[in-house]
Amino acid sequence: MRKTTLFIPCLLIWISGVFGQNMYPKDYFNPPLKIPIVLAGTFGELRSSHFHSGIDFKTQNKQGLPVHTAAEGYVSRIKVSLFGYGKAIYVTHPNGYTTVYAHMQNFNKKIDSFLKKKQYLNESYEIQIFPKKDLLSVYKDEVIGYSGNTGSSSAPHLHFEIRDTETEKIINPMLFGLHSSDHKKPIISGLRAMVLNDSSQVNSSGLAIPLKLKEKEKGNYYCSPIHAYGAIGFSIHTFDQQDAAFNKNGVYKIEMRVNGKTFYAHKMETFSFAESKFINLLVDYPYQYHHKKKYQKTYVHPKSNLSIYEITNEKGLLMIKDSISYAVEIIVSDFAGNISNIKIPIQGKKTTPRITPTCKTTDHLIRVDRKYKLKTKEVEILFPKNSCYDDFYLHFEKEKDKFKIHEPSIPMKRDFEIRFNVRNIPDSIRKKTYIAKVVKNKYFNYCTTKKTDSVFSTETKQLGTYQLYQDWKGPNIYNCNFYHNQNIKKFKFLNICSIDKLSGIKSYRGEIDGEWILMEYNPKTHAFTYNLSDKILSKGKHSFAFVTEDNVGNTSTYSALFYTN
Ligand SMILES: [Zn+2]
Repeated sequence: MRKTTLFIPCLLIWISGVFGQNMYPKDYFNPPLKIPIVLAGTFGELRSSHFHSGIDFKTQNKQGLPVHTAAEGYVSRIKVSLFGYGKAIYVTHPNGYTTVYAHMQNFNKKIDSFLKKKQYLNESYEIQIFPKKDLLSVYKDEVIGYSGNTGSSSAPHLHFEIRDTETEKIINPMLFGLHSSDHKKPIISGLRAMVLNDSSQVNSSGLAIPLKLKEKEKGNYYCSPIHAYGAIGFSIHTFDQQDAAFNKNGVYKIEMRVNGKTFYAHKMETFSFAESKFINLLVDYPYQYHHKKKYQKTYVHPKSNLSIYEITNEKGLLMIKDSISYAVEIIVSDFAGNISNIKIPIQGKKTTPRITPTCKTTDHLIRVDRKYKLKTKEVEILFPKNSCYDDFYLHFEKEKDKFKIHEPSIPMKRDFEIRFNVRNIPDSIRKKTYIAKVVKNKYFNYCTTKKTDSVFSTETKQLGTYQLYQDWKGPNIYNCNFYHNQNIKKFKFLNICSIDKLSGIKSYRGEIDGEWILMEYNPKTHAFTYNLSDKILSKGKHSFAFVTEDNVGNTSTYSALFYTN
């Protein structure tokens, strides 16, 4: 039995090694923008709690550049969301791949009017549609829409993906020939030695330590000889820059060799959305939380199901023996094949005394293989089986109304539940109450709160501080772009802003003469916009009404009359 299971991964490596990069068609897809390719982000780049699933084309710091279909096909999905991809469109091609274009400003006339009809029918700006094959066919290089900055995008750009249509696995678009000019070697800006069990050590330390790097020639980094003993590993901070931009992009491949033999390797060729969460085990998560810097490990966490790894027996782990020396090399490459490396000489040496880790034990040991319930008069915290990747001691503390449920320095695998006893809260106050995640002691972010008469509960993967909080005020409405009774004949848009600083805006509705109008909501600017070309208004007096509701049910209303003479 064992022989069979060992054989399968080896076969897979062999197949992907031999055929891997060649199986993607190199000239099938055209770049979606007709300007020189400059990337603001690469495939597999480390983002918060996920790997970047596409490439980000820079759009010359502006919105509204024509976006062309990469190849012929049909529009198989249109999704408009306030966060994430914003306005996104999916095109399915006959060769088995689907391309995705996200953060768009808008779509071409045909698609836009198709979408608007559905939005008016559903009375909702946010929508997801799966048009049938042949309904919205597109030809290669057709202008499908215009680039924008919608959704969770912090600057104008086009996010572009290629997916296997059947499996929905995302594939690095660079493997299809879409890449920019890159002659710069990746930069390695940090190295840390990781101590992987209680009896191991690096430079007499039982804790992870930073190692100083010297760059002797461009891309060739050296580290002074270290002495170590037992199970150790490394983590590095690295990024890549392309010729035409200063953006710090992700690298393509990282490999670690020990005495010339590959101990660890991964490359950003393809992965599935389901495995993206394992980024939390690839990066040094506690270090990232405390120092806001992403170091990636050159060893594999045993619970990681990432498929980007080349399988080796060692999984990046070094077992350093006394009196033996080792030559470690970490090699980082970008997609263009520019290479940087670090050489780390290690001398096996067991020393005493050494700095030792102190494990802070508490009454609450959260174990991977067991459920755990923490109960007080006011709260119950329920961890299901497999809620974490590694066993840990949970630090729990109550301070006034705040409940500190550890700190967010440990990645959780599954949601845990926080239940607040609300039996003693009067009904009138309970109505305005929600569960808040307290950030920096001053923000009370709304957590989806399930309410019964006796318990308010929420499910989350985020350790941290929580408390019950009240929101008594409806959203603030401001900056309407016309005044009451104004003639707006020359206007193209109606604009208004609304913000709710506590529980946040849950829903909104705009109406003209009592009928729903499509108002596009941009949560980054708090703006709600109606395009007056949606409907021809008769000459004369019209009424405009706008209502926003927060997450505990407080509402605010703005109404005004306008003329179109
Ligand atoms: Zn992107």
